[in-house]
Amino acid sequence: MNPHGGLPRRSLRLSIASVESPKKNPIDLNRGSKADAERLVSAGRVDDDATFELKLRPHRLNEFIGQTKAKEQLAIALEAARSRGEALDHVLLFGPPGLGKTTLATIIANELDVGFQQTSGPALQIQGDLTAILTNIRDRQVLFLDEIHRLQPVLEEKLYTALEDYKLDIMIGQGPAARTHVMDIKPFTFVAATTRPGLLSSPLRSRFGILLRLEFYTDDELRFVVERSADVIGVPIDRDGAAEIAMRSRGTPRIANRLLRRVRDYAQVRASGKIDRDTACKALELLEVDAHGFDELDRRLLRTIIEKYDGGPVGLNTLAAALAEEQDALEEVYEPFLIQIGFLDRTPRGRVATRLAYEHLGIEMPRKLSLF
Ligand code: ADP
Repeated sequence: MNPHGGLPRRSLRLSIASVESPKKNPIDLNRGSKADAERLVSAGRVDDDATFELKLRPHRLNEFIGQTKAKEQLAIALEAARSRGEALDHVLLFGPPGLGKTTLATIIANELDVGFQQTSGPALQIQGDLTAILTNIRDRQVLFLDEIHRLQPVLEEKLYTALEDYKLDIMIGQGPAARTHVMDIKPFTFVAATTRPGLLSSPLRSRFGILLRLEFYTDDELRFVVERSADVIGVPIDRDGAAEIAMRSRGTPRIANRLLRRVRDYAQVRASGKIDRDTACKALELLEVDAHGFDELDRRLLRTIIEKYDGGPVGLNTLAAALAEEQDALEEVYEPFLIQIGFLDRTPRGRVATRLAYEHLGIEMPRKLSLF
């Protein structure tokens, strides 16, 4: 059947430039600022991660390490959809970058044995882009939209009827002669990911039947990630070596895999090729990644709050200006882990460095600040 429902092609302004297959052309999502993109311990994706990540990406739910709660919820929903022979309910994945949202989206398609198409909020610029994607959708396929919080409001509204009734309003013609045509589209599963669920409007949020929150990984889970990845890329590693890399990976598989890659280089050039604790420690010291996985930027952030703003509270915009960083990058990429491990507090009055941050930097905490 004609996928355009017999409408004049011209009126649809078809363009599939923004639709990307993750297999051939991975896109740069979840990126922080330029400075962040250069960080070894950035949770955002950096340029040379793409090919490497594809190789290491688990394909099935049982290969996906950790996230027990989300996995269990998803396994039940997948089983139910399969047994009914229907498209899976729409899924919203949220959590900090690098925790496996894109990976889970591809796993959903693999588990359902359906097609997978990927795009992102910033990549969709005009209505025609979204229309083209939706009209070309195949039966029960997965459409993955990363960074949905960056989707333009006008496109968001267009999505509503598509998600709810599998229908699409299309404008035909221009000016006074323009009219609306409602077109049926194939039932599909919409999987969206965001690092900022709080920015989604409630009508949009209500369109998702399955909400999955991804959490930072434990050191043990990350050790499994490192061991699995080492196995895939064929580098010998012992348990202690994997544990050392895991401990410094900020609860994030993307960082664990990146550190593994750098430690492998060190092991091959400066040691026997095998990664043990000693080799991992030496390599990570050389790379200036400390025991918490902090690098110079984390230390600078905490030091700025403590030294320039007496430990806080300091507003996000002031802090961003002092660090010459973008606010979004601070909020989405740097802060979540510092908050998770209790080094930073987000209060209504601004950011506050905690006692742990003072201790870590070897600075004495003024007594008045312990009130915060
Ligand atoms: P996000 O979309 O949340 O930024 P990705 O899905 O791109 O994160 O994950 C980054 C990389 O981390 C992937 O290439 C994958 O190899 C690895 N990864 C993420 N989650 C897991 C997991 N649970 N088990 C194993 N590897 C994982």
